[in-house]
Amino acid sequence: MATLGPASANQETIRALYQAGVDVFRLNFSHGAHADHAARVKILRDLEKEFSMPVGIMADLQGPKLRVGKFASGSVALKPGMKIRLDLDAAPGDESRVCLPHPEIVKAAEKDSLILMDDGKVRMQIVDKGKNFLLAEVISGVKISDNKGVNVPGTVLPIAALTEKDRKDLNAALDMGVDWIAQSFVQRPEDVAESKKLIAGRAVLLAKIEKPSALEHFEAILDLVDGIMLARGDLGVECAPEDVPAIQKRIVRKVRHAGKPIIVATQMLESMIENPSPTRAEASDVATAVYDGTDAVMLSAETAAGKYPVEAVSIMNRICEHTEIDDTYRRIIDSDRPDIEEDSSDAITAAAHQVAHSVRAACIVNYTTSGSTTLRMARQRPAMPILCLTQNNNVARRLCLSYGVHAVHVTDVTNTTEAVNRAGALARGQGLAKKGDRLVLTAGVPFGTPGSTNTLRVAWVE
Ligand code: PGA
Ligand code: MN
Repeated sequence: MATLGPASANQETIRALYQAGVDVFRLNFSHGAHADHAARVKILRDLEKEFSMPVGIMADLQGPKLRVGKFASGSVALKPGMKIRLDLDAAPGDESRVCLPHPEIVKAAEKDSLILMDDGKVRMQIVDKGKNFLLAEVISGVKISDNKGVNVPGTVLPIAALTEKDRKDLNAALDMGVDWIAQSFVQRPEDVAESKKLIAGRAVLLAKIEKPSALEHFEAILDLVDGIMLARGDLGVECAPEDVPAIQKRIVRKVRHAGKPIIVATQMLESMIENPSPTRAEASDVATAVYDGTDAVMLSAETAAGKYPVEAVSIMNRICEHTEIDDTYRRIIDSDRPDIEEDSSDAITAAAHQVAHSVRAACIVNYTTSGSTTLRMARQRPAMPILCLTQNNNVARRLCLSYGVHAVHVTDVTNTTEAVNRAGALARGQGLAKKGDRLVLTAGVPFGTPGSTNTLRVAWVE
């Protein structure tokens, strides 16, 4: 996945990113005007036509991002032990006080609560509170400037999950026809339930996990959404950075087992904002996410605002490809298979995985109306590509986020012979198989009824 921004706004660069390996593009609604996003959507939909392949588009809503007010001199120097009042007065701040324009935090924060600013570079502790103010003591940090971000990790904030801006952005994004909505700073299951209601089936919903409270309610949140992003930027501020790797492993595993796509995001190739190649540690970080079993890895500022957007995608793509063919990757993934559930689609996809492995199939083909069979297939993490054939173009676009899936929009098939022939031709056309290769096919017979996968078939490519 790559985030679009000023560094990747024109048709030529977006096309180059796509060719370098991007499957899903992220529009970050924290920045940019609606017209900018709409122009990018148009470029992406034109690319789809040019390459006859679906492209996934995700609109990422800013969410209730908290910020400190302004200072008379733009910033103030801080020293440990110094006390500063955080109040609701909009007047410019100084060494003794500054506005924290969020009455809810001023109310909800308790004595001893931690308040972080500027991505955790400044740490303060509440030592006193009164009506309309908090008194904070600086623990560490050297400077705070205008409008820096604020995090209150230990406090569940009684704030709406979607701001006024989010609601406007959500409607605009849905009008643009995006496939995925990403919701930021989710705290509770109710937060995603509200968005689902507003989206009303026009897109699928992904929860960004970046608050400790979201980890507490993780199962209930996962149940309600269609995918998860591990948003390590804010999460690494709200939690101790040393806890993020273990959280990553636990969350990726749970989401994979649930058969929903998971994205590991943020600072993956951060140094490439300025440099044409990554650090070895960054290369390892991308590979680790793949070894952990993620569906997707994501670039943010690297492609939105960096100097080397296309290079960042190319190297990230190569790291993913090289990791996926490593024996150690297979061993890790195969040692932790999801349990088969008691339904025929799950039984058939697990069997398809087994059979495809035994007969060394070139690819697995799913005929699916809703896409649910392909989600079950992807959670098996087969060693060969999954070719998803669906009559629903929206389903094909949404599946761009899932592991190993090549989704293709097709017209109806009516019988098995036709299905086998079509699958072989499409697999060849996509470069996934050649004449004489074997395919493993799943389908619901009779064709075209959602949720009816009941057939498994081995076929040769003609
Ligand atoms: P953001 O989300 O880029 O919208 O902040 C990602 C993160 O917090 O990691
Ligand atoms: Mn974030």
